[in-house]
Amino acid sequence: MDERLTAEESRIVEVARGFARDVVAPNAAAWEEARTMPREALSQAAELGLTGLLVPPELGGSGIGVTAMARVMEELSAACMAFTFSLVVHNNLARNIANNGTDEQKQRCLPDMLTAKRIGAFLLTELKGGSDAAAIATRAERTGDGWRISGEKGWISNAAEADILSVYAQTDPAQGWRGIACFLVEASRPGVTRERPYSVMGGHALGTGGFRFDGCPATDADILLPPERAFKGAMSGIDTARLNVAAMCCGMLRAGLDCALDYTANRRAFGQATSEFQGLQWMLADVATDLEAARLLAYRAAGLLDDGADATLAAAHAKKFATRVALARLGDCMQTMGAAGFRAEYPLGRHMASAKMAQYLDGTSEIQNVVISRQLWRDASRA
Ligand SMILES: Cc1cc2nc3c(=O)[nH]c(=O)nc-3n(C[C@H](O)[C@H](O)[C@H](O)COP(=O)(O)OP(=O)(O)OC[C@H]3O[C@@H](n4cnc5c(N)ncnc54)[C@H](O)[C@@H]3O)c2cc1C
Repeated sequence: MDERLTAEESRIVEVARGFARDVVAPNAAAWEEARTMPREALSQAAELGLTGLLVPPELGGSGIGVTAMARVMEELSAACMAFTFSLVVHNNLARNIANNGTDEQKQRCLPDMLTAKRIGAFLLTELKGGSDAAAIATRAERTGDGWRISGEKGWISNAAEADILSVYAQTDPAQGWRGIACFLVEASRPGVTRERPYSVMGGHALGTGGFRFDGCPATDADILLPPERAFKGAMSGIDTARLNVAAMCCGMLRAGLDCALDYTANRRAFGQATSEFQGLQWMLADVATDLEAARLLAYRAAGLLDDGADATLAAAHAKKFATRVALARLGDCMQTMGAAGFRAEYPLGRHMASAKMAQYLDGTSEIQNVVISRQLWRDASRA
């Protein structure tokens, strides 16, 4: 995969690898134990140029390609997927503003986002609607020359710390998805209430939670994507998001495999290293095969996006497969380590919780199957 990268992209991947080793890995267990979203580490990531990865250089970002971004996220996720996904969400909003924002919106948001002085969030999901994102009930109602936003958003990454919210709200329920617009709203505005972050199985560094909007005022100048374009915009960015989730799962699985290889080479039982038991060797050989396949699917989707080709199907395959094998095979890595693998001093349990989380992010595994099966019958009807 790295053959596709430019010299500058390779340098950024190397920077990410060092940051993962020196900052993320040593602190990830403590973040989880404290159930905290590490704002300081996001600032450190910004100092290394990891907060504007898809923003063009003329706007202050790094302007790297999709494959390079996935490689960065794979490296970081080997240390902590929750922290990494927080960075992905922030980067994606910065790119969205760079690509679709007005000059005023770019000036208002990008400098602070690139330095991580302000953190971004993507507010589409609602607790009642879930996967049926087009059915959101949050309303944006016209008030003279402005808007008032009312409703509730749930399962929002970065909710614990986010400052700049991209809020998807319905302007005209009769229009269905066509009526949805995307507003840029500061979390400090009147009428915005940040809810307590959720207590979940793992991945607290992502700061997942919700927001309530009670007549929050907005203007036309806050519209990032107008009706007709907003929902399509959200869906078009989802292919990149899905393959990033796939790459992140590859990072965690590689970390799990490395951990199991190291442990079994040094653990002795019945007079030999446990790595000499063929049953364990084959278990880890299967991990390596699934990891290889997951990486090929993820980077095939990334390559298609870099080439400007349609990657919807490829990203769905990649995300479904990588999240499935990450959860199952991290369990196998843990098994080869006996009870030791179950201890919190090893990262396997933390990675397994994140692999489960990955099965929901940016569309559940079942929604990936909806995408894949729709294409199967489309192709069959053409044959
Ligand atoms: C940690 C975390 C972070 C998240 N971050 C964000 C974020 O930043 N912004 C955001 O907007 N959202 C975010 N989400 C929301 C995520 O995208 C949703 O969880 C997801 O869309 C599914 O909604 P739901 O969990 O309510 O499941 P539901 O829609 O209630 O689904 C329940 C079950 O039914 C299945 N199902 C639903 N529809 C179909 C169908 N058509 N065919 C077959 N099966 C179906 C699902 O796969 C699932 O198994 C996050 C979620 C999590 C867990």
